Amino acid sequence: MPPLDLAALRGRLPPSPITRFAPSPTGFLHLGHVANAIYVWGVARAVGGRVLLRVEDHDRGRSRPEYEAAALEDLEWLGLAPDLGTLAELRWGASPHRQSDSHPAYLTALEELARTARVYACDCTRKEIAAEAGDPFNEETRYPGRCRDRGLPLTDGKGIRVVLEPGAETFTDAGMGVVTQVPSEQCGDLLLRDRTGNWTYQFAVVVDDLRHEVALIVRGEDLLPSTARQIRLSRMLGRERPPVFLHHPLIRKEDGAKLSKSSGDTGVRELRRAGASPEMVLGRAAWLTGLLDESRPVAAAEIGQLFERGNSER
Ligand SMILES: [Zn+2]
Repeated sequence: MPPLDLAALRGRLPPSPITRFAPSPTGFLHLGHVANAIYVWGVARAVGGRVLLRVEDHDRGRSRPEYEAAALEDLEWLGLAPDLGTLAELRWGASPHRQSDSHPAYLTALEELARTARVYACDCTRKEIAAEAGDPFNEETRYPGRCRDRGLPLTDGKGIRVVLEPGAETFTDAGMGVVTQVPSEQCGDLLLRDRTGNWTYQFAVVVDDLRHEVALIVRGEDLLPSTARQIRLSRMLGRERPPVFLHHPLIRKEDGAKLSKSSGDTGVRELRRAGASPEMVLGRAAWLTGLLDESRPVAAAEIGQLFERGNSER
């Protein structure tokens, strides 16, 4: 990624903009999370923003309180303190910055959405959607709209979808430039709640970014395909100005695969046990994601400076 144009980015943001670090407690933090945290805290510091910590445990089946506790402890060890959704607040108990505590907010948003958009029940399984789409099911399998006009009752055991009208969304990513995506062709009508009653990632984060007043979303480029649908959904929920997005390169293994939770050699806990200091872990993640030419210790207080390169001569 070329150096960020901080002046241009500041010009697109409100004063003291809120950005967020939003781990899912479905495993321990690894260097991929640390790289994202460096971007989030670093860019926030470089533009005079604030970092909100949000626990994205919308998937109740896969999330574990012990992973959340471990993530908070690892962030504290790294010296990365959130300005909102503080560690003390999250440790205290229920919090608006934890998705599993936020069911009423999603329900209210769903009711508001249903007043102006077409929301409907869907009883399709992943297998049925894959068969109809003619593809193995994955995040990007397009829902063909089978239940749109079936008039199924919105009862337990059914998913809830919203109609996405055709049309493109174009946005200027702070890292990748102008991007155009057509949500209705990418994913079809968006799933808001699944058949087991879990709010989906797409719906929960859009509602959260709206209610938490997040102005800048800094995340890995693997989430780029979700951006237009999130912009569209946020507008349908009444957000006039979408957040500014900045997608950054991911750390990959030597074979090009994404880091996963099972990457024992890159887990923050393993690196700590092996004697690494917080500065060494931050420096290693910064190097692996291309922010440094070599792996060297970096203190949490210094990470804003990583994003100031290339800006002094502007
Ligand atoms: Zn369906």
